[in-house]
Amino acid sequence: MKKHAVIIGGGLGGLSAAIKLQATGWQVTLLEKNNDVGGKLHEVVIGSHHFDFGPNTITMPHVFREVVQDAGENPDDYFTFEKLDVHTKNVFADRSSFYFSSEKERMKEELLKLDPFAADKYEDYLMEVENLYSLARQHFFHRTFSSWKDYLSLPLAKAMARVKPLTTLDAFHQQFFKDARVRYAFNRYATYIGSSPYTTPATFGLIGHLELVDGVYFTRGGNHRIALGFLKLAKKLGVTLLTNTEVTKLEVKDQRIVAAITDKEQRITGDKFILNGDLLTQFPRLVDKQHRPHFSLKHVQPSISAFVIMAAMKTRLDLHHHHVFFGENPKREFTQLFDDQKFGDDPTIYICTSSKTDETLSPDGDNLFILVNAPPLSADLNEKREPSFVIKERIYDQLEKRGLAIRDNVVNDITVDPTTIAAKFHAFRGSLYGIASNRKRDTFLRPYNAAKDISNLYFVGGSTHPGGGSPMVVLSGSNVARKILSG
Ligand SMILES: Cc1cc2nc3c(=O)[nH]c(=O)nc-3n(C[C@H](O)[C@H](O)[C@H](O)COP(=O)(O)OP(=O)(O)OC[C@H]3O[C@@H](n4cnc5c(N)ncnc54)[C@H](O)[C@@H]3O)c2cc1C
Repeated sequence: MKKHAVIIGGGLGGLSAAIKLQATGWQVTLLEKNNDVGGKLHEVVIGSHHFDFGPNTITMPHVFREVVQDAGENPDDYFTFEKLDVHTKNVFADRSSFYFSSEKERMKEELLKLDPFAADKYEDYLMEVENLYSLARQHFFHRTFSSWKDYLSLPLAKAMARVKPLTTLDAFHQQFFKDARVRYAFNRYATYIGSSPYTTPATFGLIGHLELVDGVYFTRGGNHRIALGFLKLAKKLGVTLLTNTEVTKLEVKDQRIVAAITDKEQRITGDKFILNGDLLTQFPRLVDKQHRPHFSLKHVQPSISAFVIMAAMKTRLDLHHHHVFFGENPKREFTQLFDDQKFGDDPTIYICTSSKTDETLSPDGDNLFILVNAPPLSADLNEKREPSFVIKERIYDQLEKRGLAIRDNVVNDITVDPTTIAAKFHAFRGSLYGIASNRKRDTFLRPYNAAKDISNLYFVGGSTHPGGGSPMVVLSGSNVARKILSG
């Protein structure tokens, strides 16, 4: 009889684990509380306007392709990635701007406009971020972590001494970029893991390698096609998919999970269980305290959350596919977000307009996905937050000051705030990426991929190793599946 794996949550992490296990002879049942799989990556439609919620910036497309390839299928039958050579326009408070490009010479020309020192140092920068990337690739991306001992290795210690990943990201960038505006643009990479560049370790400079060497990609038809591709493959392989099915308890006997109990009172037994739902909320919810003595939420610092507006426009606006409007003092915004736990008063505003690459996604006007970093929800459940419409109007005012007339051109809009993110995905305090990487221990000592006190329970997704962001969670799913297959 086939071995049976039960996966709780159909985000990208759960789907990649399901595909690998099912393709290798296991029977997989995947249980998802929402109507659709894909988790934070899903499509939102307003009339003729189509939006991707969640990942708008796609890097490491090979990671998604490998999931399909490893299952014996052709990735081109599931999704197609297009590289955006000049991918992001960075606009500053003084109206100056420069573009990010994965073409080296173009990048040097762009930097020259604002910071000749940076243009001169750019090749040194690329070499350093490549070192950081290969350190992470060799020692973190493809491994599961089950205990602190997994961090102890001589090659890792040697590599760490060589590339010094433990200074802050901002300090790392100061070596290469003199102009504060240029540093603001590169420092923004810290927000890709929900953290601050003034505390997060330089390790995450590797994101520069991903965006500026490997490149930024868009999935033809919208990035949610990645989730749809995984869904199609999971179905083809024979994964049992139960949507609108929430797991409410995991039954434990002799330090093993014996069954998942659902809100429909099903009792689903299995050999191995994989939790893809946020482990910080779902592990303590689903497993009784007496069975998890080593688990604690003490000292856990959630990553930042987001306030999102999806605005359906009746016209085309002067925007690039990825467009960032920086505030006057982005450093102050990080202090406000992380220390004061409030919105920046002059925030950096990111807008993704995928219709700039593919007009068919919104034929009657642009599709603006507007994102402002938000503090995670407070641990105090009685916290009072500003109503969403107030925050939305403030963001529209700020964009109008920066020359973008939203109100005159918007047909309809939808807002998503941290409370909705927390409720819809059971995300810990509304965080986008699980735990922040503001402290060294959080970067290298994230929750492990296997439960300490339960022998057949594994964790995948943004709250565990190797970290948040869509390629990382896909890797976590494949890594855990490989670990299970290796016995
Ligand atoms: C606004 C926003 C912007 C982002 N931008 C980017 C970006 O540009 N690039 C990038 O790479 N990443 C981005 N991310 C991050 C990326 O979306 C996530 O890292 C990734 O999608 C998370 O996948 P996951 O598998 O960890 O979990 P999730 O997507 O959270 O999926 C977990 C699933 O488990 C389900 N679940 C939870 N508990 C239960 C239960 N008890 N029973 C059944 N089901 C359950 C949830 O409903 C959910 O569907 C962004 C995220 C957000 C929200």
